[in-house]
Amino acid sequence: MEKQHYSLRANVGFFFNKPIGFSRDFHAEFPEIFLEPDLNVLNLKAAFRFSRNREGLLLQAELSGEIQALCVRCLSESNVPVNAKFEELFYFPGRTQEETDQLVPNDGYIDLADIFRDYLLLEIPINHVCKADCKGVCVECGQNLNLADCGHINSRIILPEA
Ligand SMILES: [Zn+2]
Ligand SMILES: [Zn+2]
Repeated sequence: MEKQHYSLRANVGFFFNKPIGFSRDFHAEFPEIFLEPDLNVLNLKAAFRFSRNREGLLLQAELSGEIQALCVRCLSESNVPVNAKFEELFYFPGRTQEETDQLVPNDGYIDLADIFRDYLLLEIPINHVCKADCKGVCVECGQNLNLADCGHINSRIILPEA
């Protein structure tokens, strides 16, 4: 399917002349969005706030959406709901504490795509299963055992008859 690219650059330039404590809320919704280089998100809902403080701009964000994940047992793809809540501080030039601190860009636009991607990726479960009783695939023929029984005996312990 065609990847849906959207810009997630937030214009924060107007904050530069606002007093400390000034904040503004933002809201964005995308039925489908591709976050470079590798993350496709469905039904992304983003609610976020930028607040000006002494050091820079504080971003507080809450994201929800669905991400396609592979079941570790049967390798089928399914949509996993993810939620992320986080804060990031963007420093005004000259206010940084550490070299690694991120700055408010000079052009007044903060690109949220990378930040959203980083936090959403953290929410993907490592051992995702499509359902609790997923039967997995047949080790002999590769059949997805949720869909059909191929008749092979899969590592089932066969008890001797009493
Ligand atoms: Zn499965
Ligand atoms: Zn089989």
